[in-house]
Amino acid sequence: MIDSLPPLREVIRAHDLRAKKSFGQNFLLDLNLTARIARAAGDLRGADVFEVGPGPGGLTRGLLAEGARHVLAVEKDARCLPALAEIAAACPGRLRVIEGDALALDPLTHLTPPIKVVANLPYNVGTELLIRWMTPPQWPPFWQSLTLMFQREVAERIVARPGSKAYGRLALMVQWRAEARIVLTLPPEAFTPAPKVSSAVVHITALEAPRYPANAQVLERVVAAAFNQRRKMLRAALKGLAPGIEGHLEAVGIPPTARAEEIGLEAFCALARRLEGVQGQGGRIQEP
Ligand code: SAM
Repeated sequence: MIDSLPPLREVIRAHDLRAKKSFGQNFLLDLNLTARIARAAGDLRGADVFEVGPGPGGLTRGLLAEGARHVLAVEKDARCLPALAEIAAACPGRLRVIEGDALALDPLTHLTPPIKVVANLPYNVGTELLIRWMTPPQWPPFWQSLTLMFQREVAERIVARPGSKAYGRLALMVQWRAEARIVLTLPPEAFTPAPKVSSAVVHITALEAPRYPANAQVLERVVAAAFNQRRKMLRAALKGLAPGIEGHLEAVGIPPTARAEEIGLEAFCALARRLEGVQGQGGRIQEP
């Protein structure tokens, strides 16, 4: 039984799991909090969970206690494995731990859909994994939802709307194919050791189809060019993309003098479709 496991502080002492910076380790030791994060992933009964970076297993315990059918946890730091083995022993057949790098693992070979991904990850790895999970070849997604802890500033960039400083490539890329919202914010003191900044949990569910039609590569190029020079007017920022860009912007109802952060997803998709048409007629969309 999970309830019979010792408190996490004891586990950390017993296995000498002092957090290491090189692994980006900031542990959650409050089991009420890890249960809340697990619940933020929705109903786990009947779902397999892919947990990235379980560390000493606080969130893992939460996932199992909330009824996950099966948890596959991948952890890079071998020191954590004995502590995780104790959790596996308390829940026979429900937890499998793999030592390794989450970036190199294909969870589909180990899990059965529906699959929910839940992770409290080092921030750099989190953003890299999110981008991978949102784009081909990993798209269409193997997952039903992602519940991921990020630095609060990164979480705000994921859910940002036009007109805000946080709005940019990450928001557009995620929101084109998925629904994303912040479900929990946590102060630095929630972690051991405490990081410098606050954190937030983002819950992401995949849409059945992109919100507006567009060719993914063209859209990515347009958005990258627009936000690489976000202070410039779009007629200047997108100049290198296609000849006569001003006319294309006007044709889809975007003022050429507008700046990228004023433009919503729908208009970026319209521009991508228009430029793809130009490409189809023998024109060429330049790399930004
Ligand atoms: N989930 C635990 C918790 O909430 O207390 C630990 C969170 S800690 C922020 C991040 C964990 O991810 C660490 O245990 C670290 O060793 C592990 N980790 C870092 N990079 C990883 C990677 N590429 N693949 C798998 N695990 C990784």
